[in-house]
Amino acid sequence: MPAFRTLDDADLAGKRVLVRVDLNVPTEEGRVTDTTRIDRILPTIREIAQKGGKVILLAHFGRPKGRDEKNSLRQIVPALAHALGQPVIFVGDCVGTEAPKAIAAAKNGEILLLENTRFHAGDEANDPEFVKALAANGDLYVNDAFSAAHRAHASTEGLAHLLPAYAGRTMQAELEALSAGLDNPARPVMAIVGGAKVSTKLELLGNLVQKVDVLIIGGGMANTFLAARGVNVGKSLCEHDLAATAREIEEKAKAAGCEIILPVDALVAREFRANPGHRVVSINEVGPDEMILDAGPLSVAEAVLKLNTVKTVVWNGPFGAFELPPFDTATVAVAKAVAERVRDGKLVAVAGGGDTVAAMNHAGVAEDLTYVSTAGGAFLEWMEGKALPGVEALRKG
Ligand code: AMP
Repeated sequence: MPAFRTLDDADLAGKRVLVRVDLNVPTEEGRVTDTTRIDRILPTIREIAQKGGKVILLAHFGRPKGRDEKNSLRQIVPALAHALGQPVIFVGDCVGTEAPKAIAAAKNGEILLLENTRFHAGDEANDPEFVKALAANGDLYVNDAFSAAHRAHASTEGLAHLLPAYAGRTMQAELEALSAGLDNPARPVMAIVGGAKVSTKLELLGNLVQKVDVLIIGGGMANTFLAARGVNVGKSLCEHDLAATAREIEEKAKAAGCEIILPVDALVAREFRANPGHRVVSINEVGPDEMILDAGPLSVAEAVLKLNTVKTVVWNGPFGAFELPPFDTATVAVAKAVAERVRDGKLVAVAGGGDTVAAMNHAGVAEDLTYVSTAGGAFLEWMEGKALPGVEALRKG
């Protein structure tokens, strides 16, 4: 049984259901260019509508300072209605006189979208008066926006204290997957952390070494660890000032019994662009004018061998500059090996964070992993071991 309330616990028929969703989708000239986030919230919306609730969607869009038509959710309505196969009634403000009238006029099973909650400063401030004004439009509150759950805003956290609160199906799936990744994982557990810089992932590394059995470090951040071990990384992206911090993380890992694996070879080049002249070198042979831009074949082989010994993988960040071929090679190879083991039922694999989703899509494995989280900041804060206020508020008391 989940530790938080879900739609299974809610009596939805005839109720006004405020549903916080993530509609922060990419747009170009007022048209939605990627519907991934819309597609993810459809099950929750449909279930509430089918069970006879009035679905009242709340969401933010962009970072407006006050009302700004550029950030109006009105532009999302056609894509949302198309995906649902059902009309969506748009209401020009999330509080005030218009919303209650439109909600009262709507029939059970109909869907309304209220204007951007961030047109009011009270949303991000979690202002009690604003929370009250939002709550006046609903009988129940459902949060289906994991990606916004690391923020204690009125629409992501405050409402859960004024109305009976439940996790939507997407939030539920995300929480169950993340729990299987780190809270109650099948062991041994491996974390793969890559990406550009150690400085952005210090807390994450500090938390992981205490929770996982193996930590594979890749990407630009591996260079900082290599340099701290005395390896010459040439002109590679490297935070030399964090050498002491890298050594501390290594010590912490040792104390916790977590094995840290760094690349043993690399793809190096003199230019940061697609398809430059490049070579494969042992990690101790990087030239003074060369940059490490991807892990090499021996490192990939070691990662895959290790993978065959673990039951759970949690992954954030690419092994190399994967946007520039051929420096996507290690990321793609390891992603494919992970996907194969998941397909064989031998592995639970959870990946997330902005660039990681792009990397998994690029490798063509996003559908094969156990779960790919599209949440950026919330996923990282979860990996850092932080309590997410929007999730905490849904816990069974
Ligand atoms: P992050 O947002 O921290 O996950 O970092 C992702 C970015 O790190 C991607 O844009 C990659 O191109 C970049 N990256 C990964 N490895 C390297 C590397 N060895 N050198 C430079 N950039 C890298």
